[in-house]
Amino acid sequence: MREVTLQELKQLARDAYHDLWAGAKSMGRDVKLYMHWTAGDYDQTFDEYHVNITGDGRVWVSTDNLAEVKSATYMRNTGSVAITLCCALDAVSENNLGTYPPTEAQINAMAQVVCVLADALDLTIDLQRVMTHAEAADNKDGYPACAPYGPDTTVERWDLLVVHEGDARWSGGDVMRGNANWYRAQGLMREV
Ligand SMILES: [Zn+2]
Repeated sequence: MREVTLQELKQLARDAYHDLWAGAKSMGRDVKLYMHWTAGDYDQTFDEYHVNITGDGRVWVSTDNLAEVKSATYMRNTGSVAITLCCALDAVSENNLGTYPPTEAQINAMAQVVCVLADALDLTIDLQRVMTHAEAADNKDGYPACAPYGPDTTVERWDLLVVHEGDARWSGGDVMRGNANWYRAQGLMREV
């Protein structure tokens, strides 16, 4: 893992722009950003995601090639970037996120990372292009990638169904997209 600044991350996304878009177009869609949690502790990082965000909000990449096809989001990895929060080790449900719930530093860093990547990759920050793994697992974008396996069905994956314990089911994606769009509207990322 290599720690990166938002500026370095933006450059990596620009470097991967054509390969990511070619992969996405081969699937008949736009590039997607998928937001995960690791189900580990705050310091464990995993190679299956391009970007890992540790509990302290620091940002790490597992590869310098963001177009590398990872194995993070079942049947959806081509032309996508996987970003994860290192947390949720013993999370049980939206009402019990265990001893490693997402930290405010992580939630904030995820919004900034999504904003930077969306800017670099020319993406609207909406459900079609920026999804939690919970949303992707139940095909909430209407794209039938595979049989659903999310919170509404088999519950095999429910990453970021909520970002705070006790929040309304399915609010996690809207919170993250809302925060990322707030950063976009502030123009803060233009400085990156
Ligand atoms: Zn996941």
